[in-house]
Order: sequence, then C-alpha cells, then structure tokens
Amino acid sequence: MARPPQPPAVLAAQWGPHLNEAPPGGWDDEARHPAEKLVETHCCFCGQQCGIQLKVRENRVIGFEPWEAFPFNRGMLCPKGVRRYLQGSHPDRLLQPLVRTESGFQGTSWDEALDLTARRLQEIRERHGPDAVAMYGGASLTSEKSYLLGKFARVALGTRHIDYNGRLCMVSAGTAYKLSFGVDRSPNPWSDIPRAQVVLVAGANVAECAPITTDYLWRMRDAGGRLIVADPRLTPICRNADLYLPVRPGTDIALFSALLHVVVREGLHDEAFLASHTTGWDAVRASVESWDPRRAAEVTGVPPDGVAGAGAGEEPQPARTRSRKRAQEPRMDSTSFGRRPARRPGTCDLSSGPPSGGAAAA
Ligand code: SF4
Repeated sequence: MARPPQPPAVLAAQWGPHLNEAPPGGWDDEARHPAEKLVETHCCFCGQQCGIQLKVRENRVIGFEPWEAFPFNRGMLCPKGVRRYLQGSHPDRLLQPLVRTESGFQGTSWDEALDLTARRLQEIRERHGPDAVAMYGGASLTSEKSYLLGKFARVALGTRHIDYNGRLCMVSAGTAYKLSFGVDRSPNPWSDIPRAQVVLVAGANVAECAPITTDYLWRMRDAGGRLIVADPRLTPICRNADLYLPVRPGTDIALFSALLHVVVREGLHDEAFLASHTTGWDAVRASVESWDPRRAAEVTGVPPDGVAGAGAGEEPQPARTRSRKRAQEPRMDSTSFGRRPARRPGTCDLSSGPPSGGAAAA
C-alpha cells in the first residue's frame, strides 16, 4: 500500500478538507455590502441542472437567491445546490496544476504542466504505440469540449481508446430509448410525473442522486398517484413508496417481464392503443407468457404477491412483500395501483427490448 509522503494531518492542513469555510468577506458581509448583480445560471452539481441566481460583487460570488421562475426546480435547491455558491472561493478548490514529487504534490505553472504532460504522452506513444494511451471524458463536458476531446484522441494521440463516464449510466438507457421511441432520452417531460397515476422507480436513487425529482414524486402522491420502487437497496425514496420491490441485483428484466405478464393476464392493456401506436406487441406478449409472478419470484427474490400487486393493483401484503427488515421501513397501504396502461403519443417499438439481463433506471 502506498505510504503518504507526509503525515495525514499535514496533508489535510495543506489540501483540505477545510470545513465550515465562510464566503468571501464573512457571513454578514453581504448585508453590509450588497451584491452588484444577480446572475441567472444553473447548479452544476448533478444532471438536474436546477436554476439558481448567484449574487455577484466585484466579479466574486458572494451568495445566492432562489430562482422561482425557473420551471424545473421553481426556486428549490437540494443541500448540494444550497452550498454551491461557496465553491468558487473555497480554499480546497484546486487552482493550479500539481506535480507529484517524492515529498508529495507541488504546485507548478500551466506551461510546465502542459510541457510535462505532452512530453510524457509522446514518450509513452513512442515506446508502446498510440493505443497505449486512453482518453476518458465526462458527461459534464460541453458539446464543444467533447468534440475537441475526440479530435485530440484521434488526430493528436492517434488512439482508438476513448470513452466517457456516461457509458456506465446513460448509454444503455439512451440506446433503449432510441430503439423504442426514436429519441435517445426520455420522450416525456418531467411535468408529466405529478400527473401520473402510477410511477415505477426502477434502480434509481432519486433522493440522493436527483434530489429535486423527489418533489415531483411527492406531488404525484399528493394528487393521489401511487409510487412503486424496485431496487436492491432500501434507498431514501423507498420511505415514500406505496410498494417496495426488493429485487435481486441483475434480475430486473425478469421483474419487468412478470409485471407485463400480469398486465396481460389481467387484461389491463389497451389493445386499440397498442395496435395503433406500437409495433412488435405480439412478440413481446409471447416473450412474457412464461414469466408468471411465481417464476419471477424465484429469480428476483420479490415475492409473487409483490409482483402481482405492482402489475395488477392487488393489495400488497407488507409482511411477505419485503424480504428484509430494515430500520427505515417503506410505507405500504392497501390502496390498489393504477389499472390503466400509460399512453404515449407516437409509435413505440416494443420488440426492441433486450430478451434477458441488463438493468433499467427510471
Ligand atoms: S438537484 Fe441539487 S445538485 Fe442537482 S442541480 Fe438541483 S440543486 Fe444542484
């Protein structure tokens, strides 16, 4: 195991984390010296991109105001967004390149850092070939930066190895959307969520990874809708679920097949809608024929009555529906779940879904 070049306390004093840092000028500075302007922008801490207004004075961010007119978050921010304005002036922020030396990281100039990087990349290419270098981008890059990164990888480095972190999260969902609905993202707006009768959250830790979406789910429930959560983990959103399905990791396709099996068995689907707006329905129906809740239970670990309750609106049995007892128990009630199939405009190709395996997120 690598040994730290300096004692951890020395490293922490130099590099942080420095907790409880005040904004520039202190907490009451803004009251004495008001901001010069409000700048409307986005919180960049997650893909929700909530609107926020930053208070700026002398080109420094000194605070924020809710942006209530912004349609997505309507002025709300999660704890990450509330503290976002402190980031610009925080002492833990990295402002210069660091080079690793025997006594730990040392600050250096951009020119020296770029020269060193270019020299080392050239040495690696000459010694091991262009494919010895890989590029890894990020989903938060702008289109222009992504374009430039691709050019740098292919033209400057000549490597065929380039990827980005979205491969592990959105690419599978985007591919499925594209095959099914013709667009590589969810074809319905967030504003549909509060109007839904039933929402199935599958494998998505909404409360911690997309916090403002929690408000959409709460509004859906306030309006009488039902929330079903399928997840191997008892994430915070499970506390608000009417039905929690503790699916085993990697078996969600079996769960979805069983849900559709129940929908077909109970005659809850809309044949006229399917005939006029979808293709491949017969193949899909045949593929779920054998996936009755009992078989799905063996694969997924979700008891048959839990699957049937989610698919058909039967009363869930709390004691048997949950396979594990945890400190935070999801609430279940005896109200039936939605009986009407979701309607979407346009045509949906139902035959394009994977026959087995894979993961899904809502
Ligand atoms: S949900 Fe939180 S972290 Fe994500 S964009 Fe909104 S305020 Fe920022």
